[in-house]
Amino acid sequence: MTESPAAEPAALDRIARLEEKVRQLPKVSLHDHLDGSLRPATMIALAAEIGHTLPADDADGLAAWFVQSSTSGSLEQYLEGFAHTTAVMQSAASLRRIAAEYVEDLAADGVVYAEVRWAPEQHQQEGLSLAEAVDAVQNGLEDGMRTVAEKDGLIVVGQLLSAMRQSDRAEEIVDLALQRRGAGVVGFDIAGPEDGFPPSRFAAAFTRLAEGMLPATVHAGEGDGVASVRDALVSGRAQRLGHGVRIAEDISVSEVSEETEDGEEALEVSLGEVARWVRDRRIHLEMCPTSNLQTGAVAGFAPDGEEAVLEDHPFDMLHQLGFSVGVNTDNRLVSGVTLSGELARLAVAFDYETAELADFQINAIGAAFLGYEEREALSALIREAWQ
Ligand SMILES: [Zn+2]
Repeated sequence: MTESPAAEPAALDRIARLEEKVRQLPKVSLHDHLDGSLRPATMIALAAEIGHTLPADDADGLAAWFVQSSTSGSLEQYLEGFAHTTAVMQSAASLRRIAAEYVEDLAADGVVYAEVRWAPEQHQQEGLSLAEAVDAVQNGLEDGMRTVAEKDGLIVVGQLLSAMRQSDRAEEIVDLALQRRGAGVVGFDIAGPEDGFPPSRFAAAFTRLAEGMLPATVHAGEGDGVASVRDALVSGRAQRLGHGVRIAEDISVSEVSEETEDGEEALEVSLGEVARWVRDRRIHLEMCPTSNLQTGAVAGFAPDGEEAVLEDHPFDMLHQLGFSVGVNTDNRLVSGVTLSGELARLAVAFDYETAELADFQINAIGAAFLGYEEREALSALIREAWQ
């Protein structure tokens, strides 16, 4: 990636200071994959137990390998990372340990509410049933929440079960999610290749989910454009969008000839039907700035012939236009990020005040798959702390 203006030394210093401040404040994480967010040291220990060979044999080297892979521009190398993480996540014991550490790491970063997503069907290579895998993760999440509570911390974490788009198991995963509702599962998602695998392929599964009245968040507007977002809303009945970055392709901004009274250029903004629905119905956008740069979701918003930098991300335009935007990590290990770090980078790129970073937390908790009263309680806690 090219160096963004925000990568100059003074900006890096500001990011580091802001990150430290933001880490102390309560935050919400709605889009983070369990199999992309392991501790490198744990991967090494688990790989040794099962005889799996990793691309590096020390924690720092492994962490660096992941970041290098995700910025290499090679999709094969990016996906190879997930082959390594899922390889060490095939037993109930390893899933439990990884889920527990996941919770502790988020709490250490100041997250108070999280929804962790993962695809149970990818954890059956050693014979686990789907239900056993979900229960193992749930046991780990509860271990983690207990450990944090014992140290007087607070964190609540729910599971989002993802079905993989390139496979055919969505109805099974929906049934599993409905069975485990009330036992840790809070919603459903589809993940994997967006282009070529539209939500309409899973219409029956989404109907079953809707009939069971469990909410869905759908990855859309990352690897594909507005038509994919529309299908996520129509076939998927998505209540939130995973990324949703390319909804910006349904918005046109043009300069109008007369200037405003203060002499600034006036802009005319026009929203297409899908963008209008997403904004007006407050469909929350779970955006993941660094990941969105790495996967090319932002590429179309960079000036012609230039590589996209954070400042090209449509996050700020969407925020200014009143969309419900949130900040997330997607895959903390794979992208080498933390939620506090992502917020700090975004704040420096777009000159956000702390109050705006707080708004993103309020947007996210408002869209959480929790009961209204729980959302309100967490919202009050977040508002007070950020004041
Ligand atoms: Zn994702």
